[in-house]
Amino acid sequence: MKVVVIGSSNIDMVAQVSHLPAPGETVGDANFMQSLGGKGANQAVAAARLGGSVTFVTSLGNDMYADILKNHFKKEGITTDYIIDDVNHPTGTALIFVAHSGENCIAVAPGANYSLLPGSITHFSEVIDEADIIVMQAEIPYETIKKIALSAKQKGKKVLFNPAPACLIDEELMKAIDILVVNELEASFISGIEYTDNNLEKIAETLLKAGTSNVVITLGSQGVYMKNVKETIQLSGCKVNAIDTIAAGDTFCGALAVVCAKKEIDQEALNFANTAAAIAVTRSGAQPSIPTLDEVKHFML
Ligand code: ATP
Repeated sequence: MKVVVIGSSNIDMVAQVSHLPAPGETVGDANFMQSLGGKGANQAVAAARLGGSVTFVTSLGNDMYADILKNHFKKEGITTDYIIDDVNHPTGTALIFVAHSGENCIAVAPGANYSLLPGSITHFSEVIDEADIIVMQAEIPYETIKKIALSAKQKGKKVLFNPAPACLIDEELMKAIDILVVNELEASFISGIEYTDNNLEKIAETLLKAGTSNVVITLGSQGVYMKNVKETIQLSGCKVNAIDTIAAGDTFCGALAVVCAKKEIDQEALNFANTAAAIAVTRSGAQPSIPTLDEVKHFML
């Protein structure tokens, strides 16, 4: 299962706080933790830990973090041959507050992630050729996402797109997406329909009509909903003690990519991703929270 992830890498600076600070407020009881994140990196690590053979294409900056990240990806068993060194910008950074309740708020400084442009990807064709599935998120330039998706579609490769943070998707790109993974907010933003408890079907139908083949809407503790022209599947969330939901969506996408690389999306695939993501919310941080394949199998027993 060859998974090619094309996306962002960030250094996550995380402050765990009793409550999220209001504008102008200083919360003085924070615990600080630094970890490696970025939606692209998180999804690449998730896919690698969960059994995929992963190549990660990302752009790293002109600082000490570039080598730290490259070595980290290698240790995770990820192929780093196509990583771009951007000498003009710092590595992407995310400043994250996590409240004891599990709520979070995040500010991202994209840095080198925004220089991941189509022209900067050396061996562009080769990267796409080696994939069974290509996985992207919206923390890199839109033109890159579109060019890769159209080229992948032309070559008969699957594309999983997780438009996070939420971005509008034009018709041409939408038609090149096999699996669109969105949370409720992204689903509402992209479909233009406000999410309520009973209009998931309407939102999913709108997104399917826009051109994607499969719509997957993640519902936090409520689990996941999937619709395509053949079927609708809804799974409840696994009952877990949620500590921190950072990277839950990324774990879900990485897991789903591994199982859908060579087969159609089905209940088993969604169950695997739903379980992997539930384990991630029981732990702190982004990548540190992502489970291994053995942990997921053990949980599913
Ligand atoms: P994030 O941005 O925090 O990574 P997201 O908003 O993209 O997450 P969610 O819908 O919150 O995505 O969560 C993704 C998946 O993680 C859910 O579909 C579910 O499988 C799992 N999950 C999230 N929160 C919980 C929870 N409290 N209990 C069990 N599973 C959860």
